[in-house]
Order: sequence, then C-alpha cells, then structure tokens
Amino acid sequence: MRREKGRFMSPPVLLVISLIGFVYYTTVFIFIDDWLGLGTGPGLLNALIFSWLAFMCLFSFFVTVLTDPGGVPPSFAPETEDPQKDGECLRYCDKCSSYKPPRAHHCRVCRRCVLKMDHHCVWIGNCVGYANYKPYIVCVLHAAMASIYSMVIFVTSILGKDHDFKGISNKIFYILCASVTIMLSLAFGSLLGWHIYLLTHNLTTIEYRAAVRAMWLAKKSGQKYHHQFDLGIYKNLIMILGPNILKWFCPAAAGHLKEGTQFPISKVDGQHPDS
Ligand SMILES: [Zn+2]
Ligand SMILES: [Zn+2]
Repeated sequence: MRREKGRFMSPPVLLVISLIGFVYYTTVFIFIDDWLGLGTGPGLLNALIFSWLAFMCLFSFFVTVLTDPGGVPPSFAPETEDPQKDGECLRYCDKCSSYKPPRAHHCRVCRRCVLKMDHHCVWIGNCVGYANYKPYIVCVLHAAMASIYSMVIFVTSILGKDHDFKGISNKIFYILCASVTIMLSLAFGSLLGWHIYLLTHNLTTIEYRAAVRAMWLAKKSGQKYHHQFDLGIYKNLIMILGPNILKWFCPAAAGHLKEGTQFPISKVDGQHPDS
C-alpha cells in the first residue's frame, strides 16, 4: 500500500490534482458566480452539477491510481489445450521468466507483466490494466464532461457580462483559463472517443496497435477484420463495466472481475492480434 500511496508524490499525479483544483475553483467561484451568482437557484444548480462531475472525476482518479491493475498469479500455468494460443508458441516473458496469460504484457516501467495491459500512464503513475480499466474509463468520461462544461460556462460568463480586460494580470488570467479549458476539452474529448471505440470492440491500446496491419490486410483482400475477444457491443460493455447497468459509472464497483487470466473468445474466425 505504501507504494500505491507513493504514486501521489509523483509530479504528473500532483499536476493532475492541482489542475482539477484550479478548474473547480475558477469554474464555481469565479465564472458561475460571475455569470449567475452562487446565491441564486440557477447558479447553485450549476455549481452542484459541476461539483458532482469534479467529485466523480477525482474519486475515479484516486481509484485508478490506487488499484493494482493485476499481475500474473504465481499459480498461473498455461493449459496445453488452451484454445487461445491457437497453435502458436506459448506466451513466455523472458524478463519475468514465467508464462504470461492471454492479453498480458510486460511493462518496462512497472517491471512486471500486467494482466490485460492497456498502457502505462504517467498521469496516474500506474499501469492501466485488467483491474483498473473501469475506473480509468469512468475518470476520462467525467473529466471530458467537466472540461466541456467548464469551457461552456467560461464562454457564457465572458459573453454575458462586461469584463475588465484592461489590466495585464486580468488578461493573463482569462487567457490562462481559456487555454486550460479548451486544451482539456480537446484532450479528454478525443481520449474519451478513443476509449469508447476500444471499449465497444473489446480491444486494448496494445492490441489495437498490433491489429492495425491485420486490419489493413483484411481490408485489402475485401474481408472484414474481427478481433478474437470482440463479443459484440453489449457483451463487451458488460465484461468491462459489469452486468449491473446501475453500477456502470461507479468506479469502485468491481465485483464482476475475475482472475484476469482467461477471456472468452468470439466464435467468428478472425486474425489474432494478441501476441
Ligand atoms: Zn514480464
Ligand atoms: Zn506499468
């Protein structure tokens, strides 16, 4: 646990927490207050909605940072009849000197194999893998919504009132706020779109990179590429977010997760990107 808590001391993680604090303070106490007034009903309603988004963003961020994405269990042994190896060599990690399950990959930063590894993220100081992909998605979703909401409030507040742009410090402050909200909206909006694509196709970022050539070859030969773990949109969502739709956006609800060493494969024949 000490190592997990130590992640909060890394500069990128501290920067994320500071950014959330900065955006929250300016949006609620400056722009909503300026635009509607926090003492009014509409002002309070906007402040409450934005506070909820900011809370969910921070909470799911903490869960993603603190949750172990999953390492290969010491008891793991590949089954000789494992259909997922599809006649290929068993997956062996030279660095860990052990077999690795399907979809697990070695992370050079974490110095171990991570189950269903998506990528190593410096902003959370942790790998995104099997056990923390759900809180990661929930965090990106709320960060995107909060950033876009903040940008809209900022623009509405600026347009709706006569502001004093004469002072140099005022100018710098408004340029800084505009830059931060636009940059965050673009970054989280595109990141969310990317992960919705991966989520609905049951792909990881690593698997997508490996599948690019297979997709190109399939397209060239007039065939449709099919990812072996793609079970259809609804089943893919259930596998990652859980069977209870009411808990899909609760980052800490992880009762549906299993060992993370086996994954159902689609019956449709396709090319296998995982290696
Ligand atoms: Zn390894
Ligand atoms: Zn890692």
